Amino acid sequence: MTNTKTTMLLDPSKFSGKVMQRQPLTGTLTEWVASAYQYAYTSIQDPENECNPAYIIYVENDNDIFLAMEYAVANDIGIAVRSGGHQYNAASSTAFNNIQIDLSGRESSQKENYLYKKVSIEDNNGDKYITIGCGVALGDISELLIQNGLFFPRGECATVHIGGHSNTGGMSPITPIFGAMIDHVVEFEFICSKYPDGTKTIRRPDLWIDDKEKGIPQQENDELFWAVLGGSPGNFGILTHLTIKCLKDADYPHTRGLKLAWPYSKEAVEAISQIVCEVSDNPELSAYASISAVVVGPEYFYPHRHPSAPLKSKGGMTLDDEMLKQYPELAGEDKFNYVGLGHGMIAVYGAFLNPTGNENYEEQLKQFEEVRDKFLKVPGCIPPKDFPIIKSIVKGIFNIAEWFEEKILGNKEKAAELDAFHKSLELDDIMYGEKYIPISQVLNNLSWDNPREYSLSYKKLSYMGNSRAMSKVNNQLSTLPIMKGVSKDNLRFSTWLANEIHSVVSSPDTYHGMYMAVQFGVIGGPGLVNPQSSGGGQVSYNSLSHRASNFWFDYDVFFNPEIEGCTENTQQYIDGIAHMVINNTINLFKDGKQQRVLLGPSFPLGEKPILDKYWSYFYDSEEQYNQLCQLKTKFDEKNVFTANLMCVGATKVKRMQPFLDHLMKDEELSK
Ligand SMILES: Cc1cc2nc3c(=O)[nH]c(=O)nc-3n(C[C@H](O)[C@H](O)[C@H](O)COP(=O)(O)OP(=O)(O)OC[C@H]3O[C@@H](n4cnc5c(N)ncnc54)[C@H](O)[C@@H]3O)c2cc1C
Repeated sequence: MTNTKTTMLLDPSKFSGKVMQRQPLTGTLTEWVASAYQYAYTSIQDPENECNPAYIIYVENDNDIFLAMEYAVANDIGIAVRSGGHQYNAASSTAFNNIQIDLSGRESSQKENYLYKKVSIEDNNGDKYITIGCGVALGDISELLIQNGLFFPRGECATVHIGGHSNTGGMSPITPIFGAMIDHVVEFEFICSKYPDGTKTIRRPDLWIDDKEKGIPQQENDELFWAVLGGSPGNFGILTHLTIKCLKDADYPHTRGLKLAWPYSKEAVEAISQIVCEVSDNPELSAYASISAVVVGPEYFYPHRHPSAPLKSKGGMTLDDEMLKQYPELAGEDKFNYVGLGHGMIAVYGAFLNPTGNENYEEQLKQFEEVRDKFLKVPGCIPPKDFPIIKSIVKGIFNIAEWFEEKILGNKEKAAELDAFHKSLELDDIMYGEKYIPISQVLNNLSWDNPREYSLSYKKLSYMGNSRAMSKVNNQLSTLPIMKGVSKDNLRFSTWLANEIHSVVSSPDTYHGMYMAVQFGVIGGPGLVNPQSSGGGQVSYNSLSHRASNFWFDYDVFFNPEIEGCTENTQQYIDGIAHMVINNTINLFKDGKQQRVLLGPSFPLGEKPILDKYWSYFYDSEEQYNQLCQLKTKFDEKNVFTANLMCVGATKVKRMQPFLDHLMKDEELSK
């Protein structure tokens, strides 16, 4: 561990919240590791030098944040901000002398009354506003919104937190009409180093009022509104609460939800992805038929990766397994892991978004239903008429099994486990698009409760595409070795994707210990360019990039780092996929310029997570990036919120050298 300089000890007694001081990492799950652990912990290059803060401060109130800033300035160190900890490269953490502020409330004695977990809905002349603390998880507000018939765009993972989601945009299954979450924000409470002793209320520029107590000059207000929402997460200061003007279910009376499932097969992957691409290629259809798909591969040699019996002879528990078992409240319930059961799965999910209220919706709905019917014809899908029967059979089997375990064998624990598993199958969430479902309910049904597909490490690729030719035959693909033996008439994205996924799924010996989780679908379109919002906001009020997109493509491979060679094999495999995306072989980018996203930044092919180096993939223009760098200097002159290299301008900050040295050391060695 490199110490850049001697740092003053932090006095925990000054803080209302719990302060944890770094302990040595021992390779096992200690109390400290559980605190430092977050989504990316087992997937980054070196947790010790990337995800191991000198202190973690579980702040209770704004005063704790001001105290932490004071300590940071006095010691010339950086503060990383963590709300839900879902950032894919651990950019909400830090290492060396730098510290982390946590706003999740997980160590608070206040429990649900924790300041940054507060939620309230206000009525203002019939308009509904929701104010949400940044320590709130998306899943926490789902029921409340359903009860009030309200919604706003938000992501699918129930455990993502408002804090990060509002900084990275908030893409949603309803984005094609309603834009991103931040397009609906009207104001937020914000703490930054320029104002070290007062929380500021930042309002959407057209709503600015001269508020002497909590406001700031209009120009600064407008700059912060733009930079914080979508610009560079955690880099300008800390957002504590935000207020969103809600949309109303009642205004969209013809909404339909879609959630269908198939057992994995290569043929189904190809057919389904072709339909998704056809929808995405059609500008009108993709404006109201929001459709995505997810493919998860079979689990070859761990048919039941339950945390109580993980991996067994195949290498012992992973740290993620341990976390799932010991800290389910942090790592999520072990739910998604069950879907493997020795077989992969494909799900299609989406909605008919009924953009025109009661007018002219019939023709659009008809076209949506035609798309739905195409999906239903893909072999393996449970047809609607059989679904109630299947549901009652499954329920019956589980009831008998639970009764047998509890009453005959006296094993209450096992009975409860079966019950939980049965409920986790989420059979009630299946939607066939045949009847009206309020959007708030659709979003709830489309959300994933478990944060990880597998309790393993991952390599991730995440892109947004703007091509409208995803469904077309692509001559470039014919040069790929994987395409040998495939008819040249069919060389499309869908064929390539099915072949790629199947190459892993069908060769467990070659791809030993690797698990697929691939997602793609319609995103963006008119909703990102000009969101339908009841707030009247303009997209230029925030700094979210890549608004002219219509497709998203996430290719994740989870892997078991305890199997020899598995990390290297996975890297090699994912680099191969990245190569095809970046060279535009799969036709994702209209003009060939690749688009990556701050909500899930990926760095394949030996790249390191250094925003200053790779900014052009994440932002629309150099002008935009320079503007963010200038605003960073204006509002955080001492770089208090520069705690890792995923911050704008971080490479120019002298004290970031240890991070650079560490990340670049492999390159130095190979010179
Ligand atoms: C399983 C999974 C599914 C996802 N699905 C979606 C999806 O459907 N749509 C989508 O848009 N995104 C999705 N994401 C990405 C996710 O929205 C972003 O990574 C988001 O930033 C995570 O927020 P967090 O608070 O949970 O994470 P954190 O790691 O705590 O924060 C993420 C970033 O925001 C900063 N930050 C956090 N809190 C604050 C705060 N209070 N003030 C200032 N900065 C802060 C952090 O410093 C960090 O840079 C998904 C991520 C995962 C892991």
